[in-house]
Amino acid sequence: MFVRLRYRVGAPGVGKGTFAKKISPHYGIPIMSTGDLVRNEISSGSALGAKIKAINDSGNLVGDDIIVEMAEGAMKSVKGGFILDGFPRTIAQAEAAEGFTKLDLVVNLMLPQEVLVEKTVNRRVCNDCGEGFNLANIVRDGMDMPALLPAVPGVCDKCGGDLVQRSDDTEEIVNNRLRVYDDETKPLVEFYRSRNLLTDFKIVKGIADLDRLIAAIDARTN
Ligand code: AMP
Repeated sequence: MFVRLRYRVGAPGVGKGTFAKKISPHYGIPIMSTGDLVRNEISSGSALGAKIKAINDSGNLVGDDIIVEMAEGAMKSVKGGFILDGFPRTIAQAEAAEGFTKLDLVVNLMLPQEVLVEKTVNRRVCNDCGEGFNLANIVRDGMDMPALLPAVPGVCDKCGGDLVQRSDDTEEIVNNRLRVYDDETKPLVEFYRSRNLLTDFKIVKGIADLDRLIAAIDARTN
């Protein structure tokens, strides 16, 4: 199956990155994550990186012009389909994106707010390869999301690198990111629903929902 493009919307901590990493090999298309582009720019030590570091650290959104330029540049370098992770995040970005790309489907990943906080503050990522883990064990209210623990605490299963908490994953910053999500990003749900591009997807088992997610995507794109 040829999938040209997909976009995943969803609050911080919902698992956008984790699901994207799993469905990318399934469809054989790469991920374009603006969060990764932002973090790469910061670690490159560039003047732009220095400017956006404080914004990233506070959980606020980087300016639309900067992000749109980064996203457009990254998309131009990819031939064929790709998964957008975390872009667009504002109506202005979505309108700009319509000028240079066409989306096949937007997946709205859904989880209750208190679970998002618990999952996000318990997220750990590998400092070297970016592999994700989660220390939170959420088994209640119809949800069955066991922790994704590394075999050895603090050590990445994939490459042996150190597992760290992202600097914007503390409770205070996560709450700010969720406020920003409600104000700036949530309106995109109706924006894409009105274009008949949206599919809502309730997460109940975390990454074990992968097959159900792929079936939901196939049902809308085949
Ligand atoms: P993420 O890894 O997707 O949660 O992104 C981490 C941070 O990068 C966000 O909190 C923002 O500061 C910034 N960022 C990523 N994508 C965007 C976007 N589309 N618009 C604005 N800021 C973004």
